[in-house]
Amino acid sequence: MNRVRCLILNAALGPLDYKVPEGVAVEPGSVVECPLGPRTVIGIVWEAERLPGTEVPVEKLRNLRAVLPVPSLSAPLRRLIEWTADYYVAPLASVARMALSSGGALKGPATMTEYRLTGGLPERMTPQRMAAIEALDGEQANIRELAGIAGVSEGVLRGLVNHGVLEPVEVDCDRPYDRARPDFAHVELSAAQAEASATFAAAVREAAFAPFLLDGVTGSGKTETYFEPVAEALRMGRQVLVLLPEIALTENFLHRFEERFGAAPVLWHSSLKSTERRRAWRAVAQGTAQVVVGARSALFLPFAKLGLIVVDEAHETSFKQEDGVRYNARDVAVMRGYFEGVPVVLASATPALESLQMAESGVYAKVDLPSRFGGAELPAIDTIDLTEEKPPHGMWLAQRLVDGIEQRLERGEQSLLFLNRRGYAPLTLCRNCGFRYQCPNCSAWLVEHRFTRRLACHHCGHEAPAPQACTECGEPDCLVACGPGVERIADEVAERLPQARVFVATSDTLNSPGRAAEFIAAVEAREVDVIVGTQLVTKGFHFPELTLVGVVDADLGLEGGDLRAGERTYQQVAQVAGRAGRGSKPGEVLIQTRHPEAPVIAALAAGDRDAFYSAETEMRREAGAPPFGRWAAIIISSEDDAEAREAANRLGAFRPQVEECLILGPAPAPMALLRGRYRYRFLINARRSVQLQEVICGWLRQVDHPPGVRVAVDVDPYSFV
Ligand code: ADP
Ligand code: ZN
Repeated sequence: MNRVRCLILNAALGPLDYKVPEGVAVEPGSVVECPLGPRTVIGIVWEAERLPGTEVPVEKLRNLRAVLPVPSLSAPLRRLIEWTADYYVAPLASVARMALSSGGALKGPATMTEYRLTGGLPERMTPQRMAAIEALDGEQANIRELAGIAGVSEGVLRGLVNHGVLEPVEVDCDRPYDRARPDFAHVELSAAQAEASATFAAAVREAAFAPFLLDGVTGSGKTETYFEPVAEALRMGRQVLVLLPEIALTENFLHRFEERFGAAPVLWHSSLKSTERRRAWRAVAQGTAQVVVGARSALFLPFAKLGLIVVDEAHETSFKQEDGVRYNARDVAVMRGYFEGVPVVLASATPALESLQMAESGVYAKVDLPSRFGGAELPAIDTIDLTEEKPPHGMWLAQRLVDGIEQRLERGEQSLLFLNRRGYAPLTLCRNCGFRYQCPNCSAWLVEHRFTRRLACHHCGHEAPAPQACTECGEPDCLVACGPGVERIADEVAERLPQARVFVATSDTLNSPGRAAEFIAAVEAREVDVIVGTQLVTKGFHFPELTLVGVVDADLGLEGGDLRAGERTYQQVAQVAGRAGRGSKPGEVLIQTRHPEAPVIAALAAGDRDAFYSAETEMRREAGAPPFGRWAAIIISSEDDAEAREAANRLGAFRPQVEECLILGPAPAPMALLRGRYRYRFLINARRSVQLQEVICGWLRQVDHPPGVRVAVDVDPYSFV
């Protein structure tokens, strides 16, 4: 047979058939160049029977242009792509694109030119040249990257090349990574850890699909526990994928990995340079990348011989992708394990209710680590009722919490204040005319950032300088900041405890691995007394001297009536509480709240996780919410409000009548305007028996929309905005 069907990497095109030229060998999964009109597009050869298309007579077929020099995508990966597209109602091409996520990698072997200092000096020294030479000591990269590192123009560096100060070096783009050695360091495991890790290691040897929920309290040493099965996979010559939620903050993880395996793992995340991407992608495809540590997009990498998948902090909502293909990496990871026939370990101290339910119903095997490693105690938790212990006027911290920080200061210990709000204040208004500063592109207030003296939208990135006078009524000095963000809390600490050294830890200040490493080093060196941070500091950090955690506003996440509000609050507070008392000194947690009687707060204070989960489970069961029923959202958007509304109403007129499937809407979405687009929403709540995806696909197919209208489907949504 010399004709093949190709999945074309363009969501607007269906599958296309091509003729295979004489002497060219292709198989399902081959990555190929296909002629399309005058252009060439990239496609993947697919099993024709799995990809219905229109039969074109042989004589009309065009020849494939070339087979690209990369290994074919494996059958398990092709099945995963199909499953993801079906389940999340996404175009197959958009999912396949996530697998071919490095354009450079598809071009085959290559070399590139990098530059490094020779040690020589230019005849004429300028301040810029001087700065560049100092900054580039020990660096090797291309001119553009070096210019970024040195903070000078590329022209300056080209001048230095001409003067022989920088020399070119040819590098193999695919040079191999350092080998991780499974037996590099021996770690003595506790009895509970040893038992858990033996279970996982046995599953790795079985080399069959086996999903696990590793349910271990904060500080129980989940990482050490799953390092053993990682080593086992390495001994078998298999590859491992470890998914982490916040890849910018993996310093601590990388450090521990190197200590254990004697080499760094291969990193995969969205801010890799294109040369790093191609190198990682090719090494994964060739099977030479042994352990890949990545963000959710690493799930679709073309592993040659996968042996184990670990999802750490599996409850994290950042595993849910909120644009493009809206998938949940935690769930897709389990499916990848299923198609590859390998074990999957979901690790968490606060598992998602969905995961616990899967364990309860016997689909996942549950493995527990009930106590902290090395005998450390879980911290004591207490609430501060803000309606009784009121902070001073214009302040946000109750005296008891400030006293707690002061005691830590006197003892040379550290405190962490958690507030999930970046910036100084979440709302700015004019005292004179009442004007509130709102984002022009979103239904959201602008957040004041005092460090940068700007007002910023946290949804679209819109920014404007903070005005001196009200832009509406012109009155000077009349703008008031309403409510606290982390910067304001830091100011308050500095005012009430002037001797404290305060560090604000948010995605604004820890925006690169380097910054994160500096932060960790500073805390470890005890150069910081009080950390004020957002959810970024709730996970992964291990600071032995940190003995007090203050939750500034536990009620914050409970506002808005989101389906998972209770669960998310529980997870966030439990995780941040888990940062306290991890060393030899006991930890204390103080939770500020106006509703100490709310079930989630009461459960946290009582340390009664089971009570919380069972109450939450009942609530979900009654509401028909996941995992007992299913949700999906359909968002119709356009830059033109009327167009979006009309499109939503038109779709509404075709709403299917399906038993046990309730369709609400269309209604303006809670974020009725987002990034300049007006949004209308349908919410679907269905019993598990309903073929939800079929219902949605059948419905959407009936209506065509003008080009300005976008329809986004979100299956198992996390965000209800
Ligand atoms: P978790 O992720 O479960 O909160 P970690 O994996 O961060 O816990 O472990 C907590 C601390 O205990 C870390 O500093 C870790 O290095 C240490 N630790 C855990 N298990 C061991 C072990 N078997 N031997 C030595 N140190 C361990
Ligand atoms: Zn905005």
